[in-house]
Amino acid sequence: MTAVAARAEMAGPDTLRLGTAVIHRLADIERIGWPAAAIFRDLTGTALADAAASYPGAVDAAAGTLALTFNSYIIDMPGHLVLIDAGIGNGKERPDRPAWHRRTGDFMQRLRALGYQPDDFDLVINTHLHADHVGWNTTGSGQDWRPAFPNARYIVPKQELAHWSALFASDKHTLHGAYADSVQPILDAGLYEAVDTPSEIVPGLRLEPAPGHTGGMAVVRLIADGGQLLFLADVLHSPVQLATPQLTSNFCVDPAQACATRRRLLDACAGTDTIVATYHFPPPVFGTIVKAGEGYKLNPVDAV
Ligand SMILES: [Zn+2]
Repeated sequence: MTAVAARAEMAGPDTLRLGTAVIHRLADIERIGWPAAAIFRDLTGTALADAAASYPGAVDAAAGTLALTFNSYIIDMPGHLVLIDAGIGNGKERPDRPAWHRRTGDFMQRLRALGYQPDDFDLVINTHLHADHVGWNTTGSGQDWRPAFPNARYIVPKQELAHWSALFASDKHTLHGAYADSVQPILDAGLYEAVDTPSEIVPGLRLEPAPGHTGGMAVVRLIADGGQLLFLADVLHSPVQLATPQLTSNFCVDPAQACATRRRLLDACAGTDTIVATYHFPPPVFGTIVKAGEGYKLNPVDAV
C-alpha cells in the first residue's frame, strides 16, 4: 500500500490543517509599509514598478514601500503546542526602530482568543535572534523581563546563540536591545536549549540549517501524517523575491549565502506538495512552490 500524504487545507483565514496538526498564523504587526530601498537596495525605479505590477498587495510603487508583516506561527499537534518565532513584543525600548518602539499590540489577547494560554506552550522556537523574532519571548517592563511562556523549552540554533552572546559581552545594545530584554532573561531562567542544525526537536518537528540571513538561522520543518510544512523564517522577506530570487535583503549578513540558501530550499520544494509558510509576507502565507521562469511562484493553499 502506498502512503498518501495528508492533505493540507485551510480551516480558516489564518489557519491551516495538515493531517492531525493545526497551524495558526498570528501576526504581531500586520502590513506595515517599509521603504523598499531600506529592505532591498537594488529594488528601485523600473524594478520596483515591475514588482508592483506582479505583487500589487505587497508593493506600493507610488509610495516606494513594501508591505512587511511579522508572522508567528502556532503549531497545535498531538502532544505539543509550539510557537515559531516571537515577533517584536510589547513595551520594548527600540528607539532606533520606531515601528517596534514601546509597542502596545494585542498579540497575547489574540493568542488567547485562539483558545491557548501562554502556560500551555511546551516549545518556543527562535529561528534566529533578530529583534523582530524574539520580542514575545518575554513580557514585563523597565528592567524586569520574564519568560512569556514559562513552561516552554526555548529552542535556538547553537551557532546563533553563540554568535550574539559573544557580541553582547562587549555591546549591551546588541540586537537593538533585544538581547538584553528578550534573550538574556530566557538564559537566566534556564529555559534555552541550544541545538545543532539539523536537529529533531520532537518527532515530526525539525530544525534545519538556513545560513545567510544570519550565520546560524534555521528553518523549521513539520512532518505531519506524511504532509510537510516548511517554515521559511527570513529566507524570504517579500514575495518579490520569488520572481527575483537573487534579490537579497540589506539585513542579510552574507548575501551570496542567503541567495544560495533561498535557491536550495525553493528548488527542493518546487513541484512537491510541501507547503511553505513565510514570516514577513502579508497573506497569503501558506502555499506550494512551483518554478516560473528564472524564479518561482507561490500557489496559495485554497482559502475556505
Ligand atoms: Zn525578520
